[in-house]
Order: sequence, then structure tokens, then C-alpha cells
Amino acid sequence: MLGLMQNQPLMISSLIEHANRHHGEEEIVSRRVEGDIHRTSYRQVAQRARQVAHALDALKLAFGDRVATLAWNGYRHLELYFGVSGTGRVLHTLNPRLHPDQIAWIANHAQDQVLCFDMTFLPIIKAIQGKATSIRHFVALCDADKLPADTGIAGLTSYEAWIAPHPTTYAWPDFDENSASSMCYTSGTTGNPKAALYSHRSTILHAFAGSMPDALNLSARDSVLPVVPMFHVNAWGLPYAGAMTGAKMVFPGPAMDGKSIFELIESEKVTFAAGVPTVWQMMLAHMQAGNLRFSTLRRTVIGGSACPPAMITAFNDDYGVEVLHAWGMTEMSPLGTVCTLKNKHLDLSPDDKMKVRLKQGRGLYGVDMKIVDPDGKELPWDGRTFGDLLVRGPWIIRDYFNAEGPSPLVDGWFPTGDVATIDADGYMQITDRSKDVIKSGGEWISSIDVENIAVAHPGVAMAACIGIKHPKWDERPIIAVVRKPGAQVSREELLAFYEGKIAKWQIPDDVVFVDAIPLGGTGKMQKTKLREQLRDYVLPGV
Ligand code: ADP
Repeated sequence: MLGLMQNQPLMISSLIEHANRHHGEEEIVSRRVEGDIHRTSYRQVAQRARQVAHALDALKLAFGDRVATLAWNGYRHLELYFGVSGTGRVLHTLNPRLHPDQIAWIANHAQDQVLCFDMTFLPIIKAIQGKATSIRHFVALCDADKLPADTGIAGLTSYEAWIAPHPTTYAWPDFDENSASSMCYTSGTTGNPKAALYSHRSTILHAFAGSMPDALNLSARDSVLPVVPMFHVNAWGLPYAGAMTGAKMVFPGPAMDGKSIFELIESEKVTFAAGVPTVWQMMLAHMQAGNLRFSTLRRTVIGGSACPPAMITAFNDDYGVEVLHAWGMTEMSPLGTVCTLKNKHLDLSPDDKMKVRLKQGRGLYGVDMKIVDPDGKELPWDGRTFGDLLVRGPWIIRDYFNAEGPSPLVDGWFPTGDVATIDADGYMQITDRSKDVIKSGGEWISSIDVENIAVAHPGVAMAACIGIKHPKWDERPIIAVVRKPGAQVSREELLAFYEGKIAKWQIPDDVVFVDAIPLGGTGKMQKTKLREQLRDYVLPGV
């Protein structure tokens, strides 16, 4: 017997219409490429998203056709989020930090028909023109009078001229909620990039789950700053969760430096911010140098790579900001776990509380997790035993878009490529990415643990731990370190700093000082590049 409830498909267009009706006055603030601060509202975003819908119809795009963006976080990008998906076309967010050849490859693979870009990225457009052969229309996200006459791009229009002729009303269609809504390619550290293809249903369920109190705890009283880019995994779903909850949204545009981010937090009374550790490192350095304080920021979600304890302490103790350590992947929309405490943790000593906060957290409702040994046998949730982490749930991929080869699933579970422990309370902790784990004398060393200790040293700005081949031990860890400006920390001093903090055999064999650690398109340390740079390196005594 079926239930007798209305079977309303979960549509992304309903998010912006909800925001329009219930939070129409709420502000959407963007720092623009031009450098100025732009203000609009959910009401205007809804109207302009409807104009985008008409503009796409006028191009005669088919249902499911891909409309790409190459854009910073900003209001026009937000309008495209709703306008494109709302009509049943697929929003494809391209990552401008990739090499133009890779962007062209991705655009061809996705068969993008339209590309909307911020003027910052004009050089990329020029580089891929003629290579990205499926793109028929280029739209520059600017006013008509900001469009240079001599771009050399055939048929280029400005976004404002493109949408202006169209009405601000539109009848959003209802269709199967499992239809594709947006897509994002993984960074492709191994082989060609692969695309996660999200659906209306997966996106809305993810927004519900992500807004919950023990997840990001978003509300209409929040002012939300996604520093995480809208060009990678939908800025962790915040544009959708923002519309669902009616939160004020604050977009940083291209200005990601510590000073600009801090100023935006203060001027827009931001209460909640989201970013990867490298972004916060820059902001904390700016604040420490100027002895600055936040007036409104309460929570910050940090993920994408492990959040070092020194950062959690700085936010919490020095600035009174709660850090929500979170974990996820492109393939998971991306939220998988968020670390919020249970009642039983509230009375713990600061050290023991920190041990919980360093974990990546508990699975959201909707995300199932397990850890397995190399034979696929499930391992206990004891907080010590580590194994390959597998996940399943309604916002986790079952396959990649137009993939060659079989589905990545193993008995219905998606292998994350991460190695983790899970404790009896369900808190998951990443030990490493499986390809970064260091195997020494038959034991595993967590590169994250080794890095966390190094960055706790006051003279260290950034640190990456990699394994180096060893004739006896298989591999031994070394740590590549970028010193803070003006810091003098020596190899001996840093190695001594490890004493008593981890087991002796886990202490790196050497410290290599470098000017910079290579970062990838999403701000993560690229250990493959670092290994290449250090390929002639020889361990001491070998
Ligand atoms: P890519 O780096 O290929 O773009 P994602 O952005 O999807 O991929 O990153 C997913 C990976 O990032 C995870 O599998 C995990 O290894 C790492 N990651 C994400 N959040 C965390 C975290 N809080 N701690 C440690 N690792 C993390």
C-alpha cells in the first residue's frame, strides 16, 4: 500500500523560490572582480535566475545540456546556479586553477555548450578557444559597457546584455528529481579528471542534511561567507543551504587574501565561514600581525584537508570561534562528516576535547560508513584500528559521468581512497589518503600526525610529510617545511620538537626546508609534485 502524501519532486528551483517568498529582502553581498562591493537580495537573485532561464531557452538548449561556468564566488554565479539547474540544464563548474589544456579537455568531455566566465579568466578563454570545440556561446559575467571590443572571441556577449531582454517571471518546470542538476570534475591527481554528476534530489537532500544543528547549523540569522569556491563541489553546498535557510550570503570574489577576507567578515557581520586550512592560515597570520579581533564570527567549518590542532586552538582560544572540522569529497557532494561534540564530551579536559575535535567527525544522517581490511573484511569501530574507508548514501556517486570502465562501487559502497579509524561514538578520523600512507617496517605512519606536530612549532608556516624509500624499513618519513617569514627554526630544533609527541620510530628521519610546497587546484598540498621535486634526495645515513 502506498502512502497518501503528495509526491512533489525535489527541485533546485524550489530553493530560490522559497528564499524569494520567505527571505526576499535578505542580502546577497559580493566583492566583485572590479573590486567594489555589490549588494542584492534573494528577491532579485530569483528574478534574474528566471531571466537566465529564458536566456537559455532562447539559445534552444536541450534538457540536460551542459552550461559551464568559470567564475569566482558572486551573485551572478549564484543566479546561474538556480537559473541553469532550474530549467533542467546541467551547471558545470569549471576550476580556473587547472591548466587551460586540462580545462579544454574537461569542457570537451562534458560537451559544454555555453561558457559563462568572469573577466579575470579571459586569458583562459583565449587559450581554450578552438580547443574546447563543443562550446557554442561565450558569456562574460559583466556589464555591457565593461566588455572590451577586441577580445577576438566570436559572438561574445555580456551577461547583463544577455539576460536584460527577458522577463523576470518564469514557470519553472517540474521533472524527475533524479535528473542531473550540476557536475564537478575531481582534480585528477591520478589519470584524467572524472566527473561527479549531482541530481536535484541529491542536492536538496544534501542541503537539508548539511543545515542540521549537528552539521553546519545554518539559519536565517546567519551571515554566511563561503570562501570555498563555487567552482569546486558547489562551495560545499552552501549556496543551496543558504537559500533553504534564508541565510545572508557574502561572497569574496577573487580576493582571498587574509586582509580582504577579514575585512569582509567584519563589514558584513559574518557569523559563519567555510574554507580550507590554507585560506585560514593566511587570515590568521594577518590577524596575528595586526592584533585584530572578530566582532561577529562564531563558527567556521574547515575541511578539504586535515585541520591542524594549532589552527583549532588559535580560532577557539585566541578568537572565540568554534571550529567544525569536516570531511567530504567531490564524489559526496561533498559533506560526509562534521565534528560536533556530544554531551559526554563537554566536561572533558581541554586536551581530551582537542583529541575529539581533531577527528573529522560523525557521519551526517544519510551517510553510511565502514572501514575494511585489504580483504574487504569489516574492521571494528574502536578508534584505533584503521582501514580503507567506504561510504554509501543518496548524495554519493554510483558512477562517474561518461566513465570508461566499471562503476567504482564495491558491493554498493564507494571506496573513498582514504584510510581512517572510527571510534565507538561514530567519530571518523582520517589517517591518510591511501596513496600518502607511509609504510615503515611493516607499520603505518600517518603523514597527517607528523605534519600536525610540525605546524604546531611557532617557526613553521607549512609542512608536508612524505615517505622515502629505505633499504631496511621499506619507507621512512621526512618532513618538508616552509619556515614562517623571519623564523630561524633549524633541523635539529624541529626534530627535537617531536620528542615525546609521537612514538620514536614515527619521528621523521630528516627535515628539508623548502621555499614553498606545491598546492593543487583546490588548495591542497600536492605530494606527487613534492616527491618529483625531491626525487634526488637521499636519506641521511643511507
Ligand atoms: P580532489 O582533491 O581530487 O579535488 P576532493 O576535493 O574531493 O578531491 O577531496 C577529497 C579528499 O580530500 C578526501 O578524500 C580526503 O582525502 C581529503 N579531505 C577532505 N577533507 C578532509 C579532512 N577534514 N581531513 C583530511 N582529509 C580531508
